[in-house]
Amino acid sequence: MVKNCSVSDRISGDGLWLSKHNPDADSERREWNDLSTALGSVSCSSRADKWVWLGVGSDSFSVAAVKKLIDGTKDFSSRYVLDWCSWVPIKCNVFMWRAELGRIPTVGALSRRGVMVENSECCFCSAGSDSVSHLFTSCPFALNLWEKISLWCRVHRFFVFSFRDLVEVHNSGPRLESEKKAIQGVIYTACWLLWKAKNDFRFNNKRCSVEEIFC
Ligand SMILES: [Zn+2]
Repeated sequence: MVKNCSVSDRISGDGLWLSKHNPDADSERREWNDLSTALGSVSCSSRADKWVWLGVGSDSFSVAAVKKLIDGTKDFSSRYVLDWCSWVPIKCNVFMWRAELGRIPTVGALSRRGVMVENSECCFCSAGSDSVSHLFTSCPFALNLWEKISLWCRVHRFFVFSFRDLVEVHNSGPRLESEKKAIQGVIYTACWLLWKAKNDFRFNNKRCSVEEIFC
């Protein structure tokens, strides 16, 4: 009943345990015993109170220690880490990272979050859905673009069945590191431009050709 009493009031025995009623139910008695046991190991000193970090990592509280504590129980072995391409703007890299996670606002992603969009068709071909996998890997518009790019880069045609395949294209086949980086940069930029073209068409009714994106 006395809410503002201190711990030392209780364990030194000077304070009163003023309960509204004595514990009588089994669960209450168990809680009472647990509390008494917990307090049994506590001793008070005259020092001022201070906070103590009981987590892992180090003796003191730090952001790194909290991160270590939170991550300690998680398994990240299956996590996919996107290759960053230093030759293209950060916005393109961030876009690729989000797209690979399925976190770009396609109609499919929006409807999963309860946002209703009238036209859910792909605006390039009107045959597929407005989703990451269709827009970038199976839409005839995108396939046409990848064909042009593969010819221009003098590499084999892209065989991509998912967005993950697309972000990994540059790693296939024996290539110099500089060649890989160049192909990766071209693909990342092309994806960014495809997305821009899609939005331009959907929101500004401005149709863009494959040739324009390629140029
Ligand atoms: Zn399409």
